[in-house]
Amino acid sequence: MVEKVLAAVSFEGLMTEIREFEMPKVSADDGILRVEAVGVCGTDWPLYQNTKNPRILGHHVIGHVEKIGKNAAKRWGVKEGDRVTLEEYIPCGACHFCRMGEFRMCPETDLWRGSYRYGCSPISTAPALYGGYSQYMYLHPNTVLHKQPTYVPADQAALALPVSNGFEWACIDGGAGVGKTVVIQGPGQLGLSCAMAAKAAGADQVIISGLSADKDRLDVAKKIGADHTVDVQEVDLVERVHEITGGKMADLVIDCSAGGASVILSSINVVKHKGTILLGGYKHKPIPEFYSDELIKKCITMKGVRGHGYQSVEMAIEVIASGKYPLNELCTHTFSLSEVDYAMKTVAGKGAKGAISSTVLPWG
Ligand SMILES: [Zn+2]
Ligand SMILES: [Zn+2]
Repeated sequence: MVEKVLAAVSFEGLMTEIREFEMPKVSADDGILRVEAVGVCGTDWPLYQNTKNPRILGHHVIGHVEKIGKNAAKRWGVKEGDRVTLEEYIPCGACHFCRMGEFRMCPETDLWRGSYRYGCSPISTAPALYGGYSQYMYLHPNTVLHKQPTYVPADQAALALPVSNGFEWACIDGGAGVGKTVVIQGPGQLGLSCAMAAKAAGADQVIISGLSADKDRLDVAKKIGADHTVDVQEVDLVERVHEITGGKMADLVIDCSAGGASVILSSINVVKHKGTILLGGYKHKPIPEFYSDELIKKCITMKGVRGHGYQSVEMAIEVIASGKYPLNELCTHTFSLSEVDYAMKTVAGKGAKGAISSTVLPWG
């Protein structure tokens, strides 16, 4: 086994450089992952912007178990050589939320204040290798991992977490299923994942909206199962949903856009009475209070969504492995370890053009 590990370390001020680390020693309870591919997440950009202490980013990880302690092998049900996906959360396993199975709510995993989280913990947290933009990662004793089939292309396998968000939001939180009409605002990686998940769950009509500049993404949305796409700069979304549904409107609206309050207003207008609106994209802004009358009048359920549970990751892995959906359409760009800075600028719309999902290949 090699003794040195190369990793892309990010610093305050949007700087990233390749650094060499000692390969961590493995005890009975932990392990080492040889990273195969890492999907670039939209969250990587705000994490990069808010990096105070140097850290290795990247948390949509797929890899092979390189070395594993005997207790960890037993607990996780894996052996050396197995292909796995990691969840970004490294939960305590003992708190109220962990006991309920909602370990993404565990205080230890908090994105801004938690101690342990893949693609987030600083290199000052021993043994430093907590991020995916690295040749190898440390597998903490509280790691949550899922086995991955070997035949799925690496860039598609690395979509397990964003696709799992689609299942968590559209199906588990939103109840998308047979006979339902689902409107998704924003055709980014999450919006497309929600569209695919809603369709996989049997939704009757999946309608996805975007801007004129999103034309390519809307075309991909059609290929992965959306029934209708709406360019909101050309067509009135409320009128179009009225037309498609014969006036019944949508059971579920999911905001995956970075649009402003107007997206919330249009969501309220396209959802039916007793319908549900999920807020996944509207951040860092106040919710306009004058919309509350409409919420009450239509008895709308509005709730925030983030991340995924264990079950939704399993669903995502199954659906990706089924090959029923052309996920290769989402995998537009690959980058090497030395291009991590550019990969993150690309997800922020400041790098390579036309990206939907980018993948970092640490050995490529
Ligand atoms: Zn992510
Ligand atoms: Zn916990």
